[in-house]
Amino acid sequence: MQIFKEKQPLIATLQSYKSTGNTLGLVPTMGALHQGHLSLVKQALQECEIVVVSIFVNPTQFDNPNDLEKYPRTLEQDINLLKQAHDNIIVFAPNASELYGDKVISEQFDFQGLENVMEGKYRNGHFDGVGTIIKLFFTIIEPDKAFFGEKDFQQLQIIRKLTEILELPVEIVGCPIEREESGLARSSRNERLSSLSREKAAFIYNTLLKSRELFGTKSADYVTQWVIDEFKNHPFLELEYFEIADTRTLKKANRKQKGANYRAFIAAYADDIRLIDNMPLNN
Ligand code: AMP
Repeated sequence: MQIFKEKQPLIATLQSYKSTGNTLGLVPTMGALHQGHLSLVKQALQECEIVVVSIFVNPTQFDNPNDLEKYPRTLEQDINLLKQAHDNIIVFAPNASELYGDKVISEQFDFQGLENVMEGKYRNGHFDGVGTIIKLFFTIIEPDKAFFGEKDFQQLQIIRKLTEILELPVEIVGCPIEREESGLARSSRNERLSSLSREKAAFIYNTLLKSRELFGTKSADYVTQWVIDEFKNHPFLELEYFEIADTRTLKKANRKQKGANYRAFIAAYADDIRLIDNMPLNN
């Protein structure tokens, strides 16, 4: 396994691979790897000859310094996990100055409204930070394909928009959400939950399942109110938002339109840990 902390030797190595016609895949991560990340790596390995996994906790996408500070950093363990997955993966684990120089700031993007709802509404500047780092990675690595999880569905749609706006020749591949046995979406943040909270947090998934069922016969407003009431009665979890939105535009669904696809999105706190999840409602 090759591990790079600096971009120049990485670029040189990738150029030699690409010149022989290999397809290059990128899996961007913030580390603390789990089965969710590994499912992206697996898919990338199936579709590409060369796979780069980036491991970088990107400071510009955190609006909460406490959250950034507490974010788990487990590079050695991550590398071991990736070694088990495949010995031919290339790891790119730079530090902030290697990517940002001495100005750790975001570029400003116009994602045509995708950035102003849900995560964008509750996490100030988050998607400018995501856009900045992914643009940097795409410029340095020049992948043919990049793999992102539907776990962060809004992020996935924003990256698609980013590549459209910048006309980048990279295919964005969305990968399904990996879940724990309880149904809780896998996340690096789950490690910070107490075992009781981790068990209780499956309520998020179960509520999504029930809302999908309800949405078959009820309006988006009805389902939303039902979810709010369910959380009001919950002793452990605090709802931040629940929204039913059009899958493509991420605009809140008011009235169900024929032919449109909808998705339910949720953010909730268990202890002081923020968890997100989502689910398609049309199947
Ligand atoms: P992160 O390290 O949290 O930035 O995640 C890196 C990538 O892994 C993102 O594209 C996430 O959407 C994806 N990811 C994280 N958790 C999951 C999961 N449970 N299932 C599928 N993809 C995931």
